Amino acid sequence: MAIRVVRLDNDEILRKKSREIEVIDNKIRQLSLDMLDTMYKYDGVGLAAPQIGILKRIITYDIGQGPRVLINPVITKKQGKQTCEEGCLSSPNVFGMVDRPKQIIVEAVDLEGNKIRIKAEDLEAVVLSHEIDHLDGKLFLDIAYDMYTVTEEELAQAKAESEQQYNKEQKKNKKSKKK
Ligand SMILES: [Zn+2]
Repeated sequence: MAIRVVRLDNDEILRKKSREIEVIDNKIRQLSLDMLDTMYKYDGVGLAAPQIGILKRIITYDIGQGPRVLINPVITKKQGKQTCEEGCLSSPNVFGMVDRPKQIIVEAVDLEGNKIRIKAEDLEAVVLSHEIDHLDGKLFLDIAYDMYTVTEEELAQAKAESEQQYNKEQKKNKKSKKK
């Protein structure tokens, strides 16, 4: 387990194209674990390897359904349109609206080397589009509009508020379960 340093958006490595992974060895497995640790540590929903300075085509994400690791992901189909507010661990204080496809199909390889095909929509489609863009050196900043920045204090406050809200909901759920 290791938390890696997240590269910020002024780092030129984030502008480079990542290379395909040809062999899934222990190094790649360790990398995926470190990426998950780093993603959870900083409350990200997704992370791409270049964000920790590794130019390899691997992403991790978790939209509340458990951790997922995709190797060499490719979007093979896009459909519809949605607009969503996005942020990025590499631009921790910046948020903005981004237009993305509503549904996408992603083909990739998992850590066991099996080919997988994911039909993603809504948030999952946003996260996958955002992370796969990172593998091609593209940042959400390039396509975002109505952007705004928040200070560290505001960010900490928003986080505390959402945690409070979460705890409240957990309590409510417990109560309703008792009934
Ligand atoms: Zn990002």
